[in-house]
Amino acid sequence: MVSWINSNKLTNQHTNKLTMMALKDIFGKFISHDVGIDLGTATTLIYVKGRGIVLTEPTVVAIDTNSQKIIATGDEARKMLGRTPETVKAIRPMRHGVIADFAVTEEMIRAFIRQVQVRGLFVRPRVVVAVPSGITDVERRAVKDSVDHAGASDVWLVAEPLAAAIGAGLSIESPEGNMVIDIGGGTTEIAVIALSDIVCKISIRIAGDEMDSAIMEHMKKQYNLLVGETTAEWIKKEIGSVTPLETEQSVEVKGRNAIAGLPRTVKVNSKEIRDALKAPIGAIIDAVKHALERTPPELASDIIDKGIILAGGGAQLRGLPILIGKETGLNVRVAEDPVECVVKGTGKILDDFEKYSKILVHNV
Ligand code: ADP
Ligand code: MG
Repeated sequence: MVSWINSNKLTNQHTNKLTMMALKDIFGKFISHDVGIDLGTATTLIYVKGRGIVLTEPTVVAIDTNSQKIIATGDEARKMLGRTPETVKAIRPMRHGVIADFAVTEEMIRAFIRQVQVRGLFVRPRVVVAVPSGITDVERRAVKDSVDHAGASDVWLVAEPLAAAIGAGLSIESPEGNMVIDIGGGTTEIAVIALSDIVCKISIRIAGDEMDSAIMEHMKKQYNLLVGETTAEWIKKEIGSVTPLETEQSVEVKGRNAIAGLPRTVKVNSKEIRDALKAPIGAIIDAVKHALERTPPELASDIIDKGIILAGGGAQLRGLPILIGKETGLNVRVAEDPVECVVKGTGKILDDFEKYSKILVHNV
């Protein structure tokens, strides 16, 4: 008898546990998760509350030109850039930090959200999206609408430099000023932040893409060699620098001869790429100096004490913190995981939504 009771109890416990698990599973499908998105010109990152960063993909979409359907997104689509047959078009729907193609951007966000399985059948997710600080109201509205139509219930926007600062671990609410420079694909955003606000900002449409263009231009002028964006970016990452390297490096670059039209291989070195990068880098340095000139003196003295923080993929260009340090006389440090800074910031905002709600924009 005793044993019967015990085993029954056990069975009951077991059944309860199973039921709980089943319920959890069912509800798991319906409970929405808060989502943070860094919709960058070059990289889209998604953070899901409780899970961390779940997606890092190039902001690229491949479309079948006959059906107008998306056939690939992210990395898969990126591999098709510049090498697609006539029936496929690989595009980057964001240019200079703003949406260049609404319908495609919306589809892309939808595909990415599906990919990370943020289920929101009954309760659609609350989404915080980081947008460049320099975009217009119309552009902001477009971002919000795209995310809205992609299945979010509640879309909040945050200025990228604020998200980057939060992601880099700075306390944005302090009265002391911090300068953040975010060098992405399409835009470089320079901002001085104090008391949870952007005190002074400069956003220029010169960043990583422009460096790639400068390299393409150099290859054409110097060697009559035509190379695509992907190859130019590869050269930049492989041997690009802004200060002399201890050992200068070189790579072999394949492209098409502009005159004969035939494939050719050319060897380029880091010194000539550094020269080719001078114009876009010079423009970024000028913008930083300009921002410092416009910074109120009190905050400028904070920046002298605390230095500048660099974020975004472009921050990884060899020698950049050294060069900016030399040109401004200030301490410059690269954020840990500079590409993830902004999306990490959106994650911290979601984790402490009340605290950060005052820096978010809901109605645009
Ligand atoms: P966005 O915010 O616009 O999506 P990211 O922060 O992802 O941009 O930065 C993308 C840019 O960073 C691209 O132009 C890319 O080529 C550049 N980048 C990434 N890694 C490096 C590197 N190691 N050296 C130089 N540039 C880099
Ligand atoms: Mg960015």
